[in-house]
Amino acid sequence: MVKSSVLGYPRIGADREWKKALEAFWSGKLKEEEFHARLQDIRLGHLRKQQAQGIDLIPVNDFSYYDQVLDTAAMFGIIPKRFAYEGGAVPLSVYYGIARGTKEATASEMTKWFNTNYHYIVPELDGAEPALTENKPLTAYREAKEKLGIEGKPVIIGPLTFLKLSKGYKASETDAWLERLLPLYTRILKELEQEGVQWVQIDEPVLVTKVSAADVQRLTTVYETFAAEAPNLNIMLQTYFESAEYYSEMTRLPVKGIGLDFVHGCSGNIKSIREIGFPADKVLGAGVIDGRGIWKAPLREKLELLEELAGLVTADRLIIQSSCSLLHVPVTAKNERKLLPELKNALSFADEKLNELVVLTKAVSLGQNAIADELETCECALLALSQSGERNRGGIQQAVANISAQQPVRHLPFAERHPLQQNKWQLPLFPTTTIGSFPQSAEVRKARQQWRKGEWSGETYAQFIREQIDVWVKLQEEIGLDVLVHGEFERTDMVEFFGEKLAGFAFTQFGWVQSYGSRCVKPPVIFGDVAFEEAMTVEETKYAQSKTSRPVKGMLTGPITIMNWSFVREDISREQIAYQLAYALRQEVEALEQAGIGMIQVDEPAVREGLPLKEKDQAEYLAWAVKAFRMTTCTVQDTTQIHTHMCYCEFHDMIDSIEAMDADVISIETSRSHGELIHSFELNTYKLGIGLGVYDIHSPRVPRVEEMTAMIDRALRVLDPKLFWINPDCGLKTRGYEETIDSLRNMVEATQAARAKHYAEAH
Ligand code: GLN
Ligand code: ZN
Repeated sequence: MVKSSVLGYPRIGADREWKKALEAFWSGKLKEEEFHARLQDIRLGHLRKQQAQGIDLIPVNDFSYYDQVLDTAAMFGIIPKRFAYEGGAVPLSVYYGIARGTKEATASEMTKWFNTNYHYIVPELDGAEPALTENKPLTAYREAKEKLGIEGKPVIIGPLTFLKLSKGYKASETDAWLERLLPLYTRILKELEQEGVQWVQIDEPVLVTKVSAADVQRLTTVYETFAAEAPNLNIMLQTYFESAEYYSEMTRLPVKGIGLDFVHGCSGNIKSIREIGFPADKVLGAGVIDGRGIWKAPLREKLELLEELAGLVTADRLIIQSSCSLLHVPVTAKNERKLLPELKNALSFADEKLNELVVLTKAVSLGQNAIADELETCECALLALSQSGERNRGGIQQAVANISAQQPVRHLPFAERHPLQQNKWQLPLFPTTTIGSFPQSAEVRKARQQWRKGEWSGETYAQFIREQIDVWVKLQEEIGLDVLVHGEFERTDMVEFFGEKLAGFAFTQFGWVQSYGSRCVKPPVIFGDVAFEEAMTVEETKYAQSKTSRPVKGMLTGPITIMNWSFVREDISREQIAYQLAYALRQEVEALEQAGIGMIQVDEPAVREGLPLKEKDQAEYLAWAVKAFRMTTCTVQDTTQIHTHMCYCEFHDMIDSIEAMDADVISIETSRSHGELIHSFELNTYKLGIGLGVYDIHSPRVPRVEEMTAMIDRALRVLDPKLFWINPDCGLKTRGYEETIDSLRNMVEATQAARAKHYAEAH
């Protein structure tokens, strides 16, 4: 019999009740016992939903108190030394200490889970001897069975993926680490087997990326060990987010099932099966329902795909699955009240996807006729969306086709426009500036609330914003900054702000997804053709400029960042969406220039996040991402200075693309990147203006002048002093008033010292 299976279910709850419980516990409002009870209710609720829908293989142990990678580390007793953990069950205080930091010890780092916007806590392998602190999958399995009669499928992160995601992991020590971890894994699996567990899902997403030949060899050792120790357990070796890089090797492993993603990496996976064949002793976990997108699945197409797979594998050896955990999509679309009907009807969040899985499973078992109604509803919904006026802005499509057929270039190359800009702006050596936002105080947030609720008129709110700008323009002048900003007081979020003003976007009421820990985000939905409607930032920028004789930088979010932080339509390519955004933002750039703003910053912090997992696809992505940025900025006059900003540190491997964006000045985060970025400038010279962040804005600590001097000196060893700017790492939105002023004063002092010290080199 064909079965349906889910790889993981969102933990946050339809009303973010999980987030609320965590935060109540952290603030002391919820006692530990009550907290456990509350989370159990939430967890069982999620299992019940999947049971009610009729999912055959329901995941357990996918739930977490914070993050599944942290859970895995805690289960193995891999606790950073600084938390003074002495073995045994990991107390919540230690668990949350690692995630969030304590008074005595800093938190572990977090980083993005492959190419998603989910951030996991990076395990630290700092020498502590691993030991099994609890068989978590077993506990979860028992709970589901006892409370709900569910025969759950425990989900575990596989050893190879776990090690590769850890900090302090050295390839040379892999064997030593596996030797320590394997006995713990096998104990878990043995106990599961004894308990009568049918299926376990072992996630090895790292197998969609390139690993060493030695690692491929280790894969065999690992799964042979598992098979020898727990021979009656059915292991589903699960990959996702791309096609499996080692399909052929996977087919030779003694596992019962191979789980592949047939949404992201579909063609690669099908090609592998066709060429290599699918082993007769295994079942195929066919991930056909997108665990990352928010759209209804085209059921007829999915059935065709399943038919093709059935032809290759035989139908009774298929398990119909989500392509990855549903963690990456919101919980349910059913409560949305404010969306256009053609949009709402075409959405499929986690709960709707459960239903799609069940419907497809039914069709594969009983034939298409069994789901005739569902097919019809689905086709109507998708047709209505495709015919929506929002998706058919002919003028926009034509204009974007026209401009994207041309190479977007500035009128003069940097070497020639740079002297013209110098001449116009007369900036001192090492100009100082900030990244855009200033502290969003409680007062600012409250004002926005009052305006949103209608308690304040638009004019009252605008007046309030102008007053904030007044205060900060004065402060910036007094501190002695050279290039000012208006402060972004009118923006909650750098993507939402533009999404709300551009056509083609929608905002859900409840479409939250977990970003990290209890932090959830509600990404905008780009569902139509993006169009510029009216100037979005001109008024505030112009106002700020009217208050000072120093230049004020206009401040926009770039096309790639807006796209990467949104859910997007799937009927056109991401490249096309990026060009539509670029075309719309170009009109804003031109409006700012028209209004007399001669420096314009287009932020692109999220460029790297969109980098494809497969190396072979990366160059193409970077090429169109760069092109989109250039489309946004290329029409300005020679003397108009285009700035950009990037953060989240890992840019050292794409300096060429950054240079190709051709921004006159880039400000980039450095203080957390441990010199890697600076090192990459030793290897190739950067020929445009560049400001390396001289202090970390993620901490309230006021940096000392000498610390910044050291950063500046180090940067000037590899960068041209004539092109060097001085700025903080990122926007100052989350910082306090006093500490911001003190930090910036110190930054200006360090700059003055640097000017005196490096004057000769620069002339
Ligand atoms: N201009 C934005 C700010 O200062 C940039 C934020 C970011 O890079 N994440 O807030
Ligand atoms: Zn930033």
